[in-house]
Amino acid sequence: MKFHELEGLCKGKITHQVKDAEIKELVTDTRNISIRSGVLFFAIEGINHDGHAFVQDAYDKGVRCFVVEKEVRLPSDVNVIEVRQSLPALQLVAAYHRSLFTYPVIGVTGSNGKTIVKEWLAQMLDYKFSIVKSPKSYNSQLGVPLSVWQMTESHHMGIFEAGISESGEMERLEKIIRPTLGIFTNIGEAHNAGFSSLQQKADEKARLFKDCKKVIYSQAYPEIAQALKETVSPETELVAWKIDDSKGNQITVQIGHHFLNLKLRFSDPASVENSLHCAVALHVLGFGQEVIQSRLDTLSSVKMRLEMKQAVNRSYVIDDTYNNDLYGLEVALDFLHRQNQKTKKTVILSDLYQTGLALPDLYSRIDDLLRNQQIHRLIGIGKEISSVRDQFHTEAEFYDTTAAFLASDFAVQDEIVLVKGARDFEFERIVERLEYKAHGTILEINMESLTNNLNHYRAKLRPEVKIMVMVKAFAYGGGNFEIANLLQFHKVDYLGVAYTDEALELRKNGIHLPIMIMNPSSDSFRFFKEYNLEPEMYSLEQLIDFVDYFEGEEAIPAIHIKLETGMNRLGFKENELKRLVEILKLKKKLKVKSIFSHLAGSEDPRHKEFSLQQGRRFEEMSEEVMAALWYKPMRHLTNTAGIENYKQFHFDMVRLGIGLYGFDPVKSEEKKLQIVGTLKTHISQVKNIKEGESIGYGRMGFAEKNMKIAVVPIGYADGYLRAFGNGVGKMSIKGQWVPTIGNICMDMTMLDVTDVKVQSGEEVVVFGDSPTIKDLATWIGTIPYEILTNISQRVKRTYVSD
Ligand SMILES: *Cc1c(COP(=O)(O)O)cnc(C)c1O
Repeated sequence: MKFHELEGLCKGKITHQVKDAEIKELVTDTRNISIRSGVLFFAIEGINHDGHAFVQDAYDKGVRCFVVEKEVRLPSDVNVIEVRQSLPALQLVAAYHRSLFTYPVIGVTGSNGKTIVKEWLAQMLDYKFSIVKSPKSYNSQLGVPLSVWQMTESHHMGIFEAGISESGEMERLEKIIRPTLGIFTNIGEAHNAGFSSLQQKADEKARLFKDCKKVIYSQAYPEIAQALKETVSPETELVAWKIDDSKGNQITVQIGHHFLNLKLRFSDPASVENSLHCAVALHVLGFGQEVIQSRLDTLSSVKMRLEMKQAVNRSYVIDDTYNNDLYGLEVALDFLHRQNQKTKKTVILSDLYQTGLALPDLYSRIDDLLRNQQIHRLIGIGKEISSVRDQFHTEAEFYDTTAAFLASDFAVQDEIVLVKGARDFEFERIVERLEYKAHGTILEINMESLTNNLNHYRAKLRPEVKIMVMVKAFAYGGGNFEIANLLQFHKVDYLGVAYTDEALELRKNGIHLPIMIMNPSSDSFRFFKEYNLEPEMYSLEQLIDFVDYFEGEEAIPAIHIKLETGMNRLGFKENELKRLVEILKLKKKLKVKSIFSHLAGSEDPRHKEFSLQQGRRFEEMSEEVMAALWYKPMRHLTNTAGIENYKQFHFDMVRLGIGLYGFDPVKSEEKKLQIVGTLKTHISQVKNIKEGESIGYGRMGFAEKNMKIAVVPIGYADGYLRAFGNGVGKMSIKGQWVPTIGNICMDMTMLDVTDVKVQSGEEVVVFGDSPTIKDLATWIGTIPYEILTNISQRVKRTYVSD
């Protein structure tokens, strides 16, 4: 497609054109720019994010073609088209691109299972067809056009998923995907807010299939049958299936007059449904029972998340061993690029499948990507990638097979390693080799949830209000610099820590955001200049110490002044302000970055009067200080609960803490926050206990009958407090809660699993979705803050990203 064609296609107006250009790639996020020419950047105005702020960044990365909604300032060697709205323009371009291809396209929608069905279908069909599919769960108004744009002549089939959250959206997605075969996975309560009823939701989703030749659905959902009958064209053939008979994993599925006898690899209801949708799709495509069975036998569970794990020798390993397509590689490389906590970066990469590109093109593109993302070392594994070894400009080693690589003397040290390979390369063996395995308990931190929570609070602020995120206490237990790094990426304005050590740790791991230190001891003043740290000053004594320390020096580190307005912790009192002002007037080099105070009861409506009074006092006191300065420092007062309850006190900045980690202290909007931390462990041993025997130290637990207990490697030294012992605490195994029995030991806990089918190695959730940290806090009469920050450093942290 040529740039000039866009004018007609997107109903826009070319406002600047130097010379026509061939468009090869559509990009809405400058992080995904991988090639140097032929990129068309769509500046989209979103809720938390305005693409127009990134046009210069895109230009710097070599982009010369732009679709914008408003005037932007750019150098003159660019092509710009102005449209009313960029997202619909992108959709029109994708829809046009789709119209160029006549091979079959499978469209998948439904409440759950879309991504799994899509991935499994691809797994079942890729031995025969070259398939183009949505990367990950790219199924939105933005994800669908980007997915469809990947279609090329060299593919034989497309599989795309579509997801909607309100009325009217499916119609647009239908125009882009235009599926020939449809799969309606199921209908349920997920994302109900945008619809008036389940039936209305089903009707809306069914629009994806309005011109399909055939649509597959399960008879278990009457709403779907109803919706399809009313929505699709009379020529569309509806293919309903149902389970006729099942014995364990052996299932007979009935499709009209046909029966398939199949043995499934998975037994949970969701996987059974997903597998059967795929089996029926193969049947509809003309495959016989034998082939369907042999393809079902190859299915492996779909892991859709990137996981960053702590690895040996102070390294990290990013585990992305499930598939290896170009888009997935771009996403993974971008994730790697965003990790600043180590500067050295290595990529272990297998051959790539089904990219639709010729070998030399494909690998020169990967070479570009590696160079753009500043990768230090490439390890290529596979015959294909080895055969083009001369094309790479990055330092590289090559191996024909995973086994050959594992037999080498490969080592890592202070680096981040991305492991990305197609399934049959079994790269999980490499991850296993690199992973740090000191302890069977891990705290899993979900980066996406963290981002969601950040955006939730950001949306509450006036646009000019800045945000400081409190990452004290190891980021509330989540892990300092990994979380700080994510926050830096999302451009928060400030970080707050309690002690200088915490700030040094951040600086040594690639964090360059401004940092405020709340409790700077005088023996740590010496670090402030070198590491560019900003201390809080809370008393006259401390301030004088500080000024004396830097006496005679050119410059003094900037400070933040804490005022005492009712918390009665740290801060200048009203009667100290006069003296404070004198010092500030005298020491002109002393630069006050901000003035702040802290609300003592912002979460509790009973303290409303008090909080309002604190706010008024803060206003008066800060004005008194500001009157002494010839510039205007920032002012801030509110923590998480204050952000929500006292909008009038946002001033110039807010300080977000616990809300980021998924707790709403006000409780009113808990549902909009997502759980960030999941503490998991594994059963070390299962044993049977006879009636009357005692369990653990102090012989606190006694078996009242014959019992079965499980030992898990987590104890009070890991932060699982002794108070959880003797049945007070519960953990979850396969969704079932089991109580502790006996006292909690330093490194171990015993669980009563008499009524649960378990074996050693089984996963145990200490907290997460269920039970929640809040449950734990309630059981022992404390607050979530304490549960979180107690998790000891020896518990390995793993960072996951959807
Ligand atoms: C910890 C802290 C916060 C954050 O409080 P949350 O209740 O976790 O939001 C804000 N301000 C100061 C001064 C803090 O110490």
